[in-house]
Amino acid sequence: MSVNYASGLSTYENKGKVGLPETFDNDVTLEDNVAALEKLVRESKHIVVHTGAGISTASGIPDFRGPNGVWTLEKEGKSPTVDVTFESAKPTLTHMALVALEQAGMVKYVITQNIDGLHIKSGFPRNRLSELHGNMFIEECDKCKTQYIRRTPVPTMALRPTGNNCTQVKRRNICRGRLHDTILDWEDALPDEDLDNATTHAKKADLSICLGTSLQIIPSGNLPLLAKKNGGKLVIVNLQPTKHDKKCHLKIHSYVDTVMCKLCKKLGIDIPTYGGHNPRLQSVHTVKGEKYKRGVVIATMDDVKDHKPEIKNIKRLKDENDDGGYDDEKKCKTEQSTMIHLNGTMKETLKVDEQNVFKSDVKIEATEIVS
Ligand SMILES: [Zn+2]
Repeated sequence: MSVNYASGLSTYENKGKVGLPETFDNDVTLEDNVAALEKLVRESKHIVVHTGAGISTASGIPDFRGPNGVWTLEKEGKSPTVDVTFESAKPTLTHMALVALEQAGMVKYVITQNIDGLHIKSGFPRNRLSELHGNMFIEECDKCKTQYIRRTPVPTMALRPTGNNCTQVKRRNICRGRLHDTILDWEDALPDEDLDNATTHAKKADLSICLGTSLQIIPSGNLPLLAKKNGGKLVIVNLQPTKHDKKCHLKIHSYVDTVMCKLCKKLGIDIPTYGGHNPRLQSVHTVKGEKYKRGVVIATMDDVKDHKPEIKNIKRLKDENDDGGYDDEKKCKTEQSTMIHLNGTMKETLKVDEQNVFKSDVKIEATEIVS
């Protein structure tokens, strides 16, 4: 919950403007504005979407500066009432619309300040996403920087050790680096690779669309402006005023889900319904050579133990220590630790015995994992 997340951060005074009044476009204005947005989308070649807490409120996670936001209520000495956990929160229509727009090749990149993990849960590809403030479901190795996408929230925040160790195999030895969470505290620097990628795409954008953010936190809040420097356009969808309203080409005052629903209808894009935890490492539009420097891993000990994912389309690669034990290794994989790297090839499956002692590695190739 944002509530727990917020209370886990250190105290900080400068939280920006909170509780500003919300405005709603009337029906005619809204239709005109969405039509204008549709035109911009059709004309643009590199659309980058910037998302904030406003896109997750429909899932039950409170925002920070809205009328019932965490910081707004804090100022009044209150806390929001929340009946959802990060684990149970489901991606919203807007999250799913972004998945569809990315698959359709219209949205090229998403930059989010949200730590709720809903973009990855929805199936938005990790290599087209920058999570600038971290993700409650990811822990990262302090040695090899591999990220582990988990099904349950990690137990810590503010970049602290989670108590887990890295299981990546490096030159036939396990890395064993310490894993830490990725949630930034107020003064922490943004993650290098996510920020670099975000800046590259924000500069390249000919259309920046901001959804559900008041754009008050820097540098995240200023990234949408980079498009304007290169002649791109800026669209803001938010109920409250934002820091950059005067600089945008189009401001739409409505719920983001309403706008995305109308927009996708006009574009002829079907918005899929959320079918369950569905992390994807790469976009169907990924080009050769496009990958993160770090590794990213889906499915871990806790996932496998709880949900027993099966791996489809397994193709055994030649292994110099091949003893023909395919079935054992397959069993080992499904019961123990599964690693899929960004290029979609499963390179190693750890074979760990009951005492968690590493025995050997196996190279297999998997094109799909279902859980
Ligand atoms: Zn590592």
